[in-house]
Amino acid sequence: MIIDLISDTVTKPTPEMLQAMMSANVGDDVFKMDPTVNALEQKVAKLFGMEDALFFPSGTMANQTAIKLHTQPGDLVICDKYAHIYNYESGGVAFNSGVTCKLIDGERGMFTADQIEEIASAKPQIYLPYTSLICLENTTNKGGGACWDFKEIEKIYKVAKQNNLGFHLDGARLFNALVARNESPKQYGALFDTISICFSKGLGAPIGSMLVGTKEMMQKALRLRKLLGGGMRQIGFLAAAANYALDHHVERLAEDHKKAKEIATVLKSCSYITKIEPVETNILIFYVDDKIGADHFIEKMAEKNILLTPMGEGKIRIVTHLDYTDEMHTILLKELEDF
Ligand SMILES: *Cc1c(COP(=O)(O)O)cnc(C)c1O
Repeated sequence: MIIDLISDTVTKPTPEMLQAMMSANVGDDVFKMDPTVNALEQKVAKLFGMEDALFFPSGTMANQTAIKLHTQPGDLVICDKYAHIYNYESGGVAFNSGVTCKLIDGERGMFTADQIEEIASAKPQIYLPYTSLICLENTTNKGGGACWDFKEIEKIYKVAKQNNLGFHLDGARLFNALVARNESPKQYGALFDTISICFSKGLGAPIGSMLVGTKEMMQKALRLRKLLGGGMRQIGFLAAAANYALDHHVERLAEDHKKAKEIATVLKSCSYITKIEPVETNILIFYVDDKIGADHFIEKMAEKNILLTPMGEGKIRIVTHLDYTDEMHTILLKELEDF
Protein backbone atom coordinates (compact mmCIF):
# COMPACT_ATOMS: atom_id res chain seq x y z
CA MET A 1 0.00 0.00 0.00
CA ILE A 2 1.29 3.43 -0.96
CA ILE A 3 0.33 6.34 1.26
CA ASP A 4 0.53 9.25 -1.15
CA LEU A 5 0.43 12.60 0.64
CA ILE A 6 2.19 14.55 -2.08
CA SER A 7 -0.93 16.46 -3.09
CA ASP A 8 -4.73 16.32 -3.12
CA THR A 9 -4.41 16.01 -6.91
CA VAL A 10 -3.43 12.32 -6.66
CA THR A 11 -6.99 11.08 -6.03
CA LYS A 12 -8.69 8.71 -8.46
CA PRO A 13 -12.39 8.80 -9.38
CA THR A 14 -14.60 6.77 -7.04
CA PRO A 15 -16.84 4.06 -8.58
CA GLU A 16 -19.83 6.42 -8.17
CA MET A 17 -17.98 9.25 -9.91
CA LEU A 18 -16.97 6.89 -12.74
CA GLN A 19 -20.60 5.86 -13.07
CA ALA A 20 -21.65 9.52 -13.36
CA MET A 21 -18.97 10.02 -16.05
CA MET A 22 -20.02 6.92 -18.01
CA SER A 23 -23.64 8.00 -18.18
CA ALA A 24 -22.97 11.64 -19.17
CA ASN A 25 -24.82 13.14 -22.09
CA VAL A 26 -22.15 14.80 -24.28
CA GLY A 27 -21.69 17.07 -27.30
CA ASP A 28 -19.02 19.26 -28.88
CA ASP A 29 -18.09 21.89 -26.31
CA VAL A 30 -16.11 24.04 -28.77
CA PHE A 31 -19.53 24.74 -30.35
CA LYS A 32 -20.91 25.03 -26.79
CA MET A 33 -23.11 22.02 -27.55
CA ASP A 34 -22.21 19.78 -24.65
CA PRO A 35 -25.27 19.79 -22.38
CA THR A 36 -23.41 18.44 -19.33
CA VAL A 37 -20.73 21.15 -19.55
CA ASN A 38 -23.31 23.88 -20.15
CA ALA A 39 -25.35 22.74 -17.15
CA LEU A 40 -22.28 22.63 -14.91
CA GLU A 41 -21.21 26.13 -15.98
CA GLN A 42 -24.66 27.50 -15.15
CA LYS A 43 -24.77 25.62 -11.86
CA VAL A 44 -21.41 27.01 -10.71
CA ALA A 45 -22.25 30.56 -11.86
CA LYS A 46 -25.45 30.37 -9.82
CA LEU A 47 -23.64 28.92 -6.83
CA PHE A 48 -21.41 32.01 -6.75
CA GLY A 49 -24.22 34.42 -7.61
CA MET A 50 -22.28 35.43 -10.75
CA GLU A 51 -23.46 35.74 -14.35
CA ASP A 52 -21.52 33.07 -16.14
CA ALA A 53 -18.78 30.45 -15.92
CA LEU A 54 -16.42 28.61 -18.26
CA PHE A 55 -14.96 25.11 -17.84
CA PHE A 56 -11.16 24.80 -18.21
CA PRO A 57 -8.79 21.83 -18.43
CA SER A 58 -6.59 23.24 -15.63
CA GLY A 59 -6.49 25.82 -12.90
CA THR A 60 -3.39 27.30 -14.50
CA MET A 61 -5.25 27.97 -17.75
CA ALA A 62 -8.21 29.48 -15.86
CA ASN A 63 -5.91 31.80 -13.88
CA GLN A 64 -3.85 32.75 -16.93
CA THR A 65 -7.01 33.56 -18.87
CA ALA A 66 -8.27 35.73 -16.00
CA ILE A 67 -4.99 37.64 -15.84
CA LYS A 68 -5.14 38.24 -19.60
CA LEU A 69 -8.73 39.48 -19.26
CA HIS A 70 -7.80 42.08 -16.66
CA THR A 71 -4.50 43.40 -18.01
CA GLN A 72 -2.58 44.93 -20.92
CA PRO A 73 1.10 44.12 -21.68
CA GLY A 74 3.34 46.21 -19.45
CA ASP A 75 0.85 46.27 -16.57
CA LEU A 76 1.53 45.32 -12.97
CA VAL A 77 -0.32 42.60 -11.04
CA ILE A 78 -0.38 42.77 -7.24
CA CYS A 79 -0.02 39.37 -5.55
CA ASP A 80 1.67 37.75 -2.58
CA LYS A 81 5.26 36.53 -2.89
CA TYR A 82 3.94 32.97 -2.37
CA ALA A 83 1.27 33.26 -5.11
CA HIS A 84 0.72 30.24 -7.33
CA ILE A 85 0.26 32.54 -10.35
CA TYR A 86 3.80 33.83 -9.79
CA ASN A 87 5.64 30.75 -8.51
CA TYR A 88 4.03 27.73 -10.11
CA GLU A 89 2.56 28.70 -13.47
CA SER A 90 5.79 28.51 -15.49
CA GLY A 91 6.20 32.28 -15.69
CA GLY A 92 2.94 32.38 -17.61
CA VAL A 93 2.04 35.90 -16.46
CA ALA A 94 4.99 37.18 -18.50
CA PHE A 95 4.55 34.74 -21.39
CA ASN A 96 0.80 35.04 -21.84
CA SER A 97 -0.01 38.55 -20.67
CA GLY A 98 3.33 40.42 -20.77
CA VAL A 99 2.82 41.68 -17.23
CA THR A 100 5.04 41.81 -14.15
CA CYS A 101 4.12 41.06 -10.56
CA LYS A 102 4.45 43.28 -7.51
CA LEU A 103 5.17 40.68 -4.87
CA ILE A 104 3.79 41.61 -1.46
CA ASP A 105 5.67 40.34 1.57
CA GLY A 106 2.67 38.80 3.30
CA GLU A 107 2.14 36.18 6.01
CA ARG A 108 1.63 32.62 4.75
CA GLY A 109 0.54 33.91 1.35
CA MET A 110 -1.83 36.58 2.69
CA PHE A 111 -1.37 40.36 2.89
CA THR A 112 -3.35 43.33 4.21
CA ALA A 113 -5.14 46.20 2.49
CA ASP A 114 -2.65 48.59 4.14
CA GLN A 115 0.26 46.78 2.49
CA ILE A 116 -1.05 47.43 -1.02
CA GLU A 117 -2.75 50.83 -0.61
CA GLU A 118 0.24 52.81 -1.90
CA ILE A 119 1.00 50.70 -4.97
CA ALA A 120 -2.70 50.30 -5.81
CA SER A 121 -3.33 54.05 -5.76
CA ALA A 122 -0.10 55.22 -7.47
CA LYS A 123 -0.84 58.06 -9.91
CA PRO A 124 -0.19 56.98 -13.51
CA GLN A 125 3.21 58.19 -14.71
CA ILE A 126 4.62 57.48 -18.14
CA TYR A 127 7.62 55.72 -16.57
CA LEU A 128 5.59 53.47 -14.23
CA PRO A 129 3.88 50.17 -15.02
CA TYR A 130 0.12 50.59 -14.63
CA THR A 131 -1.33 48.56 -11.81
CA SER A 132 -4.42 46.83 -13.20
CA LEU A 133 -5.13 43.72 -11.12
CA ILE A 134 -5.07 42.44 -7.55
CA CYS A 135 -4.92 38.67 -7.23
CA LEU A 136 -5.59 36.73 -4.01
CA GLU A 137 -5.31 32.98 -3.35
CA ASN A 138 -7.57 31.12 -0.92
CA THR A 139 -6.58 28.77 0.60
CA THR A 140 -2.93 29.57 0.10
CA ASN A 141 -0.89 26.67 -1.24
CA LYS A 142 2.70 27.65 -0.38
CA GLY A 143 1.26 29.27 2.76
CA GLY A 144 0.22 25.83 4.04
CA GLY A 145 -3.52 25.84 3.40
CA ALA A 146 -4.11 29.08 5.31
CA CYS A 147 -7.48 30.84 4.96
CA TRP A 148 -7.93 34.57 4.50
CA ASP A 149 -9.83 36.65 7.02
CA PHE A 150 -12.92 37.65 5.03
CA LYS A 151 -12.89 41.13 6.59
CA GLU A 152 -9.45 41.75 5.10
CA ILE A 153 -10.70 40.61 1.68
CA GLU A 154 -13.51 43.19 1.97
CA LYS A 155 -10.94 45.90 2.72
CA ILE A 156 -8.83 44.88 -0.28
CA TYR A 157 -11.98 44.83 -2.44
CA LYS A 158 -12.52 48.50 -1.49
CA VAL A 159 -8.97 49.36 -2.48
CA ALA A 160 -9.51 47.58 -5.80
CA LYS A 161 -12.77 49.40 -6.53
CA GLN A 162 -11.52 52.84 -5.44
CA ASN A 163 -8.64 52.49 -7.86
CA ASN A 164 -10.56 50.81 -10.66
CA LEU A 165 -8.48 47.61 -10.50
CA GLY A 166 -9.54 44.10 -11.45
CA PHE A 167 -9.96 41.68 -8.56
CA HIS A 168 -9.24 37.98 -9.20
CA LEU A 169 -9.35 35.06 -6.79
CA ASP A 170 -7.26 31.97 -7.37
CA GLY A 171 -9.65 29.65 -5.57
CA ALA A 172 -8.04 26.32 -6.49
CA ARG A 173 -8.84 25.26 -2.91
CA LEU A 174 -11.60 27.77 -2.14
CA PHE A 175 -13.97 24.99 -1.05
CA ASN A 176 -11.52 24.01 1.68
CA ALA A 177 -11.68 27.59 2.97
CA LEU A 178 -15.48 27.70 2.71
CA VAL A 179 -15.80 24.51 4.77
CA ALA A 180 -13.13 25.50 7.32
CA ARG A 181 -14.52 29.01 7.84
CA ASN A 182 -18.20 28.25 7.28
CA GLU A 183 -18.43 30.76 4.43
CA SER A 184 -20.52 30.70 1.24
CA PRO A 185 -19.53 30.95 -2.44
CA LYS A 186 -21.86 33.94 -2.83
CA GLN A 187 -19.85 36.00 -0.32
CA TYR A 188 -16.90 35.63 -2.68
CA GLY A 189 -18.94 36.09 -5.84
CA ALA A 190 -20.12 39.45 -4.52
CA LEU A 191 -16.56 40.83 -4.27
CA PHE A 192 -14.43 39.32 -7.00
CA ASP A 193 -14.60 40.08 -10.74
CA THR A 194 -13.33 36.61 -11.55
CA ILE A 195 -12.82 33.44 -9.51
CA SER A 196 -11.09 30.22 -10.56
CA ILE A 197 -11.87 26.97 -8.76
CA CYS A 198 -10.38 23.48 -9.19
CA PHE A 199 -12.34 20.24 -9.21
CA SER A 200 -9.12 18.21 -9.38
CA LYS A 201 -7.77 19.11 -5.93
CA GLY A 202 -9.66 18.36 -2.71
CA LEU A 203 -12.91 17.75 -4.57
CA GLY A 204 -11.39 14.62 -6.11
CA ALA A 205 -12.28 14.90 -9.81
CA PRO A 206 -9.62 13.71 -12.31
CA ILE A 207 -9.50 17.00 -14.20
CA GLY A 208 -11.21 20.35 -14.53
CA SER A 209 -11.42 23.92 -13.33
CA MET A 210 -13.97 26.67 -13.68
CA LEU A 211 -13.60 30.40 -14.20
CA VAL A 212 -16.56 32.46 -12.97
CA GLY A 213 -17.36 36.09 -13.85
CA THR A 214 -19.60 38.33 -15.93
CA LYS A 215 -21.17 37.20 -19.21
CA GLU A 216 -19.03 39.67 -21.10
CA MET A 217 -15.83 38.43 -19.49
CA MET A 218 -16.69 34.78 -20.08
CA GLN A 219 -17.34 35.56 -23.77
CA LYS A 220 -13.81 36.96 -23.99
CA ALA A 221 -12.52 34.04 -21.91
CA LEU A 222 -14.03 31.60 -24.41
CA ARG A 223 -11.88 33.13 -27.16
CA LEU A 224 -8.75 33.13 -24.93
CA ARG A 225 -9.32 29.52 -23.91
CA LYS A 226 -9.39 28.51 -27.59
CA LEU A 227 -6.27 30.57 -28.26
CA LEU A 228 -4.43 28.81 -25.42
CA GLY A 229 -5.39 25.42 -26.85
CA GLY A 230 -8.01 24.69 -24.22
CA GLY A 231 -10.99 24.23 -26.55
CA MET A 232 -12.12 20.65 -25.94
CA ARG A 233 -14.83 18.50 -27.50
CA GLN A 234 -16.96 15.84 -25.72
CA ILE A 235 -15.90 16.88 -22.24
CA GLY A 236 -19.27 16.28 -20.66
CA PHE A 237 -17.59 13.12 -19.35
CA LEU A 238 -15.26 15.36 -17.35
CA ALA A 239 -17.92 17.87 -16.36
CA ALA A 240 -19.97 14.95 -15.01
CA ALA A 241 -17.08 14.06 -12.69
CA ALA A 242 -16.82 17.69 -11.56
CA ASN A 243 -20.56 17.85 -11.04
CA TYR A 244 -20.47 14.68 -8.96
CA ALA A 245 -17.61 16.16 -6.90
CA LEU A 246 -19.59 19.34 -6.22
CA ASP A 247 -22.61 17.36 -5.06
CA HIS A 248 -20.79 14.77 -2.94
CA HIS A 249 -17.27 15.85 -2.02
CA VAL A 250 -17.57 19.32 -0.52
CA GLU A 251 -18.82 18.64 3.02
CA ARG A 252 -16.38 15.77 3.44
CA LEU A 253 -13.40 18.16 3.14
CA ALA A 254 -13.87 18.61 6.91
CA GLU A 255 -12.65 15.02 7.25
CA ASP A 256 -9.37 15.90 5.45
CA HIS A 257 -8.95 18.94 7.69
CA LYS A 258 -9.52 16.82 10.81
CA LYS A 259 -6.90 14.28 9.72
CA ALA A 260 -4.36 17.04 8.95
CA LYS A 261 -4.87 18.45 12.44
CA GLU A 262 -4.43 15.00 14.00
CA ILE A 263 -1.15 14.56 12.13
CA ALA A 264 -0.03 17.96 13.44
CA THR A 265 -0.89 16.90 17.01
CA VAL A 266 1.29 13.79 16.69
CA LEU A 267 4.14 15.75 15.09
CA LYS A 268 4.08 18.22 18.00
CA SER A 269 5.04 15.38 20.34
CA CYS A 270 7.95 14.20 18.13
CA SER A 271 11.35 15.38 19.35
CA TYR A 272 12.83 15.63 15.81
CA ILE A 273 10.27 18.24 14.68
CA THR A 274 11.44 21.85 14.98
CA LYS A 275 8.38 23.70 13.72
CA ILE A 276 4.85 23.03 12.44
CA GLU A 277 2.86 25.75 10.72
CA PRO A 278 -0.70 26.23 12.00
CA VAL A 279 -3.10 23.78 10.31
CA GLU A 280 -6.46 25.09 9.16
CA THR A 281 -7.31 22.93 6.17
CA ASN A 282 -5.76 19.92 4.39
CA ILE A 283 -2.17 21.15 4.01
CA LEU A 284 0.44 20.75 6.70
CA ILE A 285 3.94 22.20 6.54
CA PHE A 286 6.61 21.18 9.03
CA TYR A 287 10.37 21.17 9.58
CA VAL A 288 12.66 18.44 10.94
CA ASP A 289 15.90 19.10 12.84
CA ASP A 290 19.24 19.42 11.03
CA LYS A 291 20.44 16.03 12.30
CA ILE A 292 17.78 14.39 10.11
CA GLY A 293 17.33 16.95 7.33
CA ALA A 294 14.26 17.33 5.10
CA ASP A 295 15.61 15.34 2.14
CA HIS A 296 16.73 12.41 4.30
CA PHE A 297 13.37 12.39 6.15
CA ILE A 298 11.44 12.30 2.87
CA GLU A 299 13.68 9.50 1.56
CA LYS A 300 13.24 7.40 4.70
CA MET A 301 9.47 7.83 4.59
CA ALA A 302 9.43 6.88 0.90
CA GLU A 303 11.16 3.59 1.83
CA LYS A 304 8.07 2.93 3.97
CA ASN A 305 5.80 3.76 1.00
CA ILE A 306 4.83 7.12 2.48
CA LEU A 307 5.22 9.91 -0.04
CA LEU A 308 5.77 13.55 1.04
CA THR A 309 6.95 16.66 -0.84
CA PRO A 310 9.82 19.07 -0.12
CA MET A 311 8.72 22.72 -0.45
CA GLY A 312 12.17 24.35 -0.31
CA GLU A 313 13.81 26.14 2.65
CA GLY A 314 13.62 22.89 4.65
CA LYS A 315 9.83 22.75 4.44
CA ILE A 316 8.09 19.38 4.17
CA ARG A 317 4.48 19.24 3.00
CA ILE A 318 1.70 16.76 3.71
CA VAL A 319 -1.65 17.07 1.94
CA THR A 320 -4.63 14.98 3.08
CA HIS A 321 -7.34 14.01 0.59
CA LEU A 322 -10.22 11.75 -0.42
CA ASP A 323 -8.02 8.71 -1.06
CA TYR A 324 -6.17 9.01 2.26
CA THR A 325 -8.10 6.44 4.28
CA ASP A 326 -8.52 5.88 8.03
CA GLU A 327 -6.28 2.82 7.73
CA MET A 328 -3.52 4.88 6.08
CA HIS A 329 -3.97 7.55 8.74
CA THR A 330 -3.35 5.03 11.55
CA ILE A 331 -0.21 3.72 9.81
CA LEU A 332 1.15 7.21 9.16
CA LEU A 333 0.66 8.41 12.75
CA LYS A 334 2.53 5.34 14.04
CA GLU A 335 5.40 5.77 11.57
CA LEU A 336 5.77 9.42 12.56
CA GLU A 337 5.80 8.54 16.27
CA ASP A 338 8.38 5.79 15.76
CA PHE A 339 10.69 7.67 13.35
C1 LIG B 1 -3.15 23.57 -8.17
C2 LIG B 1 -3.30 25.04 -8.12
C3 LIG B 1 -3.62 25.79 -9.27
C4 LIG B 1 -3.87 25.18 -10.64
O1 LIG B 1 -3.13 24.11 -10.93
P1 LIG B 1 -3.38 23.12 -12.17
O2 LIG B 1 -2.49 22.02 -11.83
O3 LIG B 1 -3.01 23.88 -13.38
O4 LIG B 1 -4.83 22.76 -12.19
C5 LIG B 1 -3.77 27.13 -9.13
N1 LIG B 1 -3.62 27.74 -7.95
C6 LIG B 1 -3.31 27.07 -6.83
C7 LIG B 1 -3.19 27.80 -5.54
C8 LIG B 1 -3.13 25.70 -6.88
O5 LIG B 1 -2.84 25.03 -5.75
